[in-house]
Order: sequence, then C-alpha cells, then structure tokens
Amino acid sequence: MTALPPGSTIGILGGGQLGRMLALAAARLGLKTHIYAPEADSPAFDVSGARTIASYDDEPALTAFAKSVDVATYEFENIPAKTVEFLAKLIPVRPGAKALACAQDRMNEKTLARQLGAMTADFAQIDSLAELEKVLDGGFAIPCVLKTRRFGYDGKGQAKILKREDAASAWASMRDQPSILESFVNFTYEVSVVAARGADGEFRAFEVTENEHRNHILYRSLAPAHIPKASRDEAILIARKIAEELDYVGVFAIEFFAEVNGATTTLRVNEMAPRVHNSGHWTEDGCETSQFEQHIRAVAGWPLGSTAMTATAAEMINLIGDEILEWPAIAADPGAYLHHYGKKEARPGRKMGHVNRRLAKPPQGG
Ligand code: AMP
Repeated sequence: MTALPPGSTIGILGGGQLGRMLALAAARLGLKTHIYAPEADSPAFDVSGARTIASYDDEPALTAFAKSVDVATYEFENIPAKTVEFLAKLIPVRPGAKALACAQDRMNEKTLARQLGAMTADFAQIDSLAELEKVLDGGFAIPCVLKTRRFGYDGKGQAKILKREDAASAWASMRDQPSILESFVNFTYEVSVVAARGADGEFRAFEVTENEHRNHILYRSLAPAHIPKASRDEAILIARKIAEELDYVGVFAIEFFAEVNGATTTLRVNEMAPRVHNSGHWTEDGCETSQFEQHIRAVAGWPLGSTAMTATAAEMINLIGDEILEWPAIAADPGAYLHHYGKKEARPGRKMGHVNRRLAKPPQGG
C-alpha cells in the first residue's frame, strides 16, 4: 500500500490510555485520529480531534466513523469480532480479523504457538464440570489453572486448582463460559516481545522485556531482559513466525514464561496481545521509536522506525490507583519520565499512569 500522507485520519476503536498514547504519537507525525468508544469519559478523547461515543454494535455510528477515517485500528482485543468485520467491508482495518480472532481465544493462541514449534503450558479445552473432572482424573497434572478462553485480562477469569476437590469451585467461577485448563508453569521470570510488522511485511522487534507482576497486574518492566542471547533470539523468532502466520500489520506483544534449569532456559508462550502493550511502554523514553509511533507507522503504511535503544537499559513502573498521587515527586525527579493518563477517578487496581527511567546499567532481574 502507499503510505497515508500527513493530514490523513486514523480511526481508533477503544478510548483508554493505549488509544490516548496512539493518538499522541499520530499527532507528532501529522496524522489525525478519530476515537470510537462507548464511554463518555474515555482518556483518549482529550487528545484526539474527533470522537464518537457509541456502542460497538451501533451500525449507523460505525458507518459514519468509517466514512470519516482512512484506516482503522483498535487498542484492545475485546472489541467484538463483528464490529471489525463490519468495518472491514468499508475501510482497511489493521491488524485484520484473523489476528483478532486468534488473540481473542486462549485455545487458538496456544494451538497456533504449538503449530509453529513453540512451547506452551500443557492445555485442554474445558466446556463443563464433567469435562474438567474427566481431564483431571485422566492425569492432567495438579496444580493447574482454569481460565476463561475469552475476555480475561490482568488475572481476571482465572482459578487455580491446587487439589482435585477445587475442581467444582474453579468451574463455578468460570460461569459456564468456554474455558481452558493450563498446567501451572513454575517460571523463574516472565518476558515479553513487543514487535511490529509493517504493511509491506517488514518485521522489527524491540528488545525483549522482563516483566514483574503484583496482584496479577504488571508492576514493572525492565529492558533488555536478563535472558541468555539464544533465548532472546528464540523469543523474537517465535514472535516473527506468529506475525507472519497471521499476516499481521501493526504492533503486538507475545508474553512468555521463562523456566531456568541450570544452564537451560525454556520459553513457553503464555498469550498474545494484538495491540500495543503495557510491557512496551518503556519504549516511549528508551527507544528511537516508541511502540505507539511504530503502530501508527505500520497501520498508515509508513516504513517502520528504528527499535534501537537510546539507553543501556530502561524501566517502566505502572502507577496504579492512588499511586498516581505521587505525581508531584515524580515530576520533580529529573530522571523520571511521567506519563499521566488524565483519568479522573483513581479506583483501586486502575492503571492511572506510568513512569519511565533510563538506566545506566543493565537490569539485574531473572
Ligand atoms: P494471563 O492472564 O494468562 O496473562 O495470566 C496473568 C498472570 O497469571 C501471568 O502473568 C502469570 O503470572 C500468572 N499465570 C497465568 N497462567 C499461568 C500458568 N499456566 N502458570 C503459572 N502462572 C500463570
């Protein structure tokens, strides 16, 4: 495709902080954005020239939105597949429906990863309590984790099974939704690859990032990850294979569990996000091109930017709930890059902002 010239408009489905940072990155390149989101107080509205407040199944609103943009993208993967299919008949949507369908379902993600030769946790499809009990009695190793196949994030829709008797309560917490049982991975650390594939098929990955979670929510990312070079290359190769298989256009993230046994590091794919990702926020201040600019470049058909780091290492710490109240101290710290999402209400567990820092030394994680 030919590159969309400055002045063109990118439509973004979803109005959270990811949409906000995408809109800011687009503006820097002279591209306009139109945010489509159901919530009237969407943080992305503050920084975008056009907005539509409507539900994702409002066809007249979607049609008007399509008429006003040159290309559409999305900032979260729980956009109904039907919405993307509807829009795709009117305008290009990047990434496409195939990538979205894969990433919306944990069974599809893990099956694809296995097909491409990557390792994952052992897994089984579970659609009833009887099925769960049969799989467990058939020898599926305990401890394990039951998860809804769709619409889970930040540990929501998950139940640990520590003993056979937990099966009934774990299944009850799935509320009859199609589920997946996963073996519990005794990982040493978690890493992610945030990468982009351009409209012309060019692939570029950011440095592999090491991620620390607290209460199932990402707390800190460090780049580059403390990971052997061969595992770093393996993780990036898996990301590339997945992107090529899905004919992907845009930025995406693949999360991995890393298990260290002596000199061996085993990587297992956990999940894929078909969008810019929280573990890539450090690129805003630690890379030549941020993940947000990279996504806009890919979606607009521009050449991808350099993913070289601008510091030896970089870290990102999320500001969750009341932690955002620390902004005056962070703003006074000359080494801190504050990103405030402009959300009015600091509810517990809500991502309110983040702070990036460039580090002189590589991180000591792992
Ligand atoms: P997810 O929603 O799949 O990203 O899971 C959220 C977090 O729960 C992960 O980042 C892990 O820390 C933990 N977790 C999820 N699945 C597993 C598993 N199969 N084994 C061990 N920990 C897990």
